[in-house]
Amino acid sequence: MVTLASIEPGSWLGIFGGGQLGRMFTHAAQARGYHVAVLEHEANCPASQAADRHVIPSADDQMPATIDSFARHLSAITLEFENVNADWLQLAARFAPTRPGAEFLNVCQHRFREKSAVQAAGFPVTPFQPVSCAQDIIDAGHVFGWPVIVKTCRSGYDGKGQVVVSTAEQAAEAFKSLQTDEAIAEKRIDFVAEVSMLGARSPSGEIVTYPLVENSHANHILDISRCPVSPALTHYESHAEQIVAGIAQQFRVEGLFCVEFFIDARQGLMVNEIAPRPHNSGHLTIEAFSVSQFDQQLRALCNLPLGSTKEYRPAAMANLLGDLWFAGQGMNWSAAFAQSNTFLHLYGKSEPRIGRKMGHLTCLADTAEQAVERVQQIRQAFTT
Ligand code: ADP
Ligand code: MG
Repeated sequence: MVTLASIEPGSWLGIFGGGQLGRMFTHAAQARGYHVAVLEHEANCPASQAADRHVIPSADDQMPATIDSFARHLSAITLEFENVNADWLQLAARFAPTRPGAEFLNVCQHRFREKSAVQAAGFPVTPFQPVSCAQDIIDAGHVFGWPVIVKTCRSGYDGKGQVVVSTAEQAAEAFKSLQTDEAIAEKRIDFVAEVSMLGARSPSGEIVTYPLVENSHANHILDISRCPVSPALTHYESHAEQIVAGIAQQFRVEGLFCVEFFIDARQGLMVNEIAPRPHNSGHLTIEAFSVSQFDQQLRALCNLPLGSTKEYRPAAMANLLGDLWFAGQGMNWSAAFAQSNTFLHLYGKSEPRIGRKMGHLTCLADTAEQAVERVQQIRQAFTT
């Protein structure tokens, strides 16, 4: 192992991006005595409400000067979304290490590169092919069988930049709707479950993995996460651990990341995608684990010893999307405070929109099943 210095409390840390993941990282870092600066276009974004400093980029041609003023006093820089402009990251890296680094980010920013790299490293992935015209979609349909899921290589999230194509006749219109010729087609997996696992690797080479989390989605957006997973899925845990630790090792990741998987009844685990940052399915670690994903991100960023990932209570998390705000006559939050072991998080976004992540709710219980039931009940009570 290489001996590298740690970045001590009292130092300034930077984040690219100002959403809720940056806000929760900021809370964790400040609790340990660090100062946090956020680089984000949007004024009054979730992270800027908590951060010690908010830098708002002006025009793109002013970016070198903006990055200079943002990064000059920082000891390390992390990110909370993967679509960070690589040029900006490089400019910032002149002042302080960026963790994750540009190489891993480059893989995770682009679905074709990501799936190719994970497959080349020897890990199972969802069957996929590159798509740069409508005929490529038709070819993929013939190889995989219909329907196929076509996804843009860049900038997709929460199901955006994806289209399900059910017949060859739909290929031309579907391709046009993507508005890019950089895409992939995937076999649609009739999965038994979707699961995810957080991992972290410090610059010194220490690696940890968290337990597997089971996720259910509604309209391609995460709805509920639970940990531990259902008893029928526990035997996938050790294979997932091998894959996540293997990715950390082979890609020499510096930082915290999350691997999303499908479980196919016959083929077992398949990597769907990698997020080089904290993940929505990891929010339950804030209360359920002795070391949350944001605390772990901080430890990896600062090259501190990584924390235990195995001490936890059964938990479930439910997302609070903007949809809820339109479902009743105002929000009644008191249900979140009626019992202990229930934790409401709101991200400080003033404008609810359909599909927008406004907050989340975590419940701890004796079993994950009870926790799932409780978060669903309480979420429902917010609008009744
Ligand atoms: P993102 O999370 O970046 O929007 P994903 O590729 O994770 O993109 O897709 C979002 C969700 O859509 C997945 O969690 C899953 O529920 C569904 N989905 C995506 N790809 C497939 C696939 N090949 N087969 C079945 N379902 C899929
Ligand atoms: Mg996803």
